[in-house]
Amino acid sequence: MEPLPDHVIPRRVVIIGGGFAGLLAARRLRRCPLEITLIDRSANHVFQPLLFQCATGGLNVGQIAPPLRGIFRGQDNVRVLLAAVTGFDLPGHKVHARAPDGTVFDLGYDYLIVAAGNETSYFGHEELRVYAPGLKTINDAQEVRRRIFGAFENAELARDSEDRRSWLTFVVVGAGPTGVEMAGQIRELATRTLRDEFTSIDPTTCRVILADGADEPLAAFGHHLAGRAVRTLRHLGVELRMRTLARSIDATGVDLQGPDGLVSHVDCRTVIWAAGVHASPLAGMLVEAAGAKADRQGRILVEPDCTLPGHPEIYCVGDMMNYRDLPGVAEVAMQSGLHSANMIRRSLLDLPSNRRFRYLDLGSAAYLARGHGLVEFHGLKLSGFSGWVTWLAVHITFLTGFTNRGAALLTWLFALGGRRRSQRTLELRDIQNDIQSGPEAPHTTAASAHEAPKVPRPVR
Ligand SMILES: Cc1cc2nc3c(=O)[nH]c(=O)nc-3n(C[C@H](O)[C@H](O)[C@H](O)COP(=O)(O)OP(=O)(O)OC[C@H]3O[C@@H](n4cnc5c(N)ncnc54)[C@H](O)[C@@H]3O)c2cc1C
Repeated sequence: MEPLPDHVIPRRVVIIGGGFAGLLAARRLRRCPLEITLIDRSANHVFQPLLFQCATGGLNVGQIAPPLRGIFRGQDNVRVLLAAVTGFDLPGHKVHARAPDGTVFDLGYDYLIVAAGNETSYFGHEELRVYAPGLKTINDAQEVRRRIFGAFENAELARDSEDRRSWLTFVVVGAGPTGVEMAGQIRELATRTLRDEFTSIDPTTCRVILADGADEPLAAFGHHLAGRAVRTLRHLGVELRMRTLARSIDATGVDLQGPDGLVSHVDCRTVIWAAGVHASPLAGMLVEAAGAKADRQGRILVEPDCTLPGHPEIYCVGDMMNYRDLPGVAEVAMQSGLHSANMIRRSLLDLPSNRRFRYLDLGSAAYLARGHGLVEFHGLKLSGFSGWVTWLAVHITFLTGFTNRGAALLTWLFALGGRRRSQRTLELRDIQNDIQSGPEAPHTTAASAHEAPKVPRPVR
């Protein structure tokens, strides 16, 4: 990088979002004479690709979500604010925001980098969120973990076999990387960690159904690796329902419509939604304010230099932009964030700053189970153990902060050798909503509860 001349006047940069895109942009600008404000409604940088590990008790949230303040402790030109951006005044070069106590305030900018990511989409059926949480934030991961572990606890106390079966049935909607990882992890949790911890139930009998409208899971990885994924998932005991759509979800279960058009009801108490995302609402506000265009997921169709059409001072990067239909993955976010920072640096040097964003495809990776991963890199296809080791190496490398990297590595090595998962705190009040949301439970005495039929403990 070219050094910047000393006489450059500090300019105000506002970065919305401390995810991959915003974080890397702010870091790239560390030696610039700029006043950078990084504003996020979360105090942490969340490493989303590992949320499924938190949701199944493998890692704790602190290991994958270091505080933004800690990350920027040594970077004097960055100020971190915990607040929600609520709107824009594009002609006035201002961002409207709301502080945690509800106070509203404005932030002026000379350059604006909008990296607010995307959100779980229920395709217009927001009411499903209650029954089928997504996996996008720390809160989501904690909610999913609470429901999964709560389901096994409820099954242990179920009043009859039907009730027990519905607590021990899990449906994951969406067979992209998140859905595949979740389905595999629930089976692994049940068959390795929980298998001999209960008295009335055999956790290994739990059903995990993975449903998706596509022909095969992980379609983006190509037919060869998707076939490997199918084999591994079946080996784990995941029931695959492809070319199948979730038609309705409620407290009693899911209606699934198969390829033959027939709809069947699956009794289950735990549904996880991994079926769709939509760009942050901030994308819609910018599109409207600038008269720009959005794609079906609400992502802004940006200029080749990642700016908002008609606004060379505003960069839209990461998951909320659509540039040449690039996928919403971490690499695109990181590289587009870096690109926006590089262009701001160039403008400080009075160099042309409208260079086209060039994306370097570094492939994709997905986790299936302990010892099973998939990696696709420019025609190189790894699966099984080599895929898993490569997946592990990639994720450890990108985990922000040395302590987290070391802690995550140790936790995983521990998990590899044994079968324990350490992040399993749960209190009765955490799962009481689940108890209440099911069909009305008849009163049972403690004695009758203990009389629930027992299954033999599996042989160790
Ligand atoms: C479960 C899961 C698994 C994934 N697995 C992989 C994987 O294996 N490989 C891969 O490459 N990619 C994966 N991804 C995708 C990858 O995580 C995203 O592409 C990446 O996080 C996008 O980065 P971003 O900076 O654009 O957005 P984000 O990382 O989503 O960051 C956006 C930030 O903006 C903040 N924000 C949003 N709205 C506001 C507002 N109004 N005010 C203030 N702040 C706001 C949010 O709090 C957030 O911190 C996965 C995603 C998920 C959810």
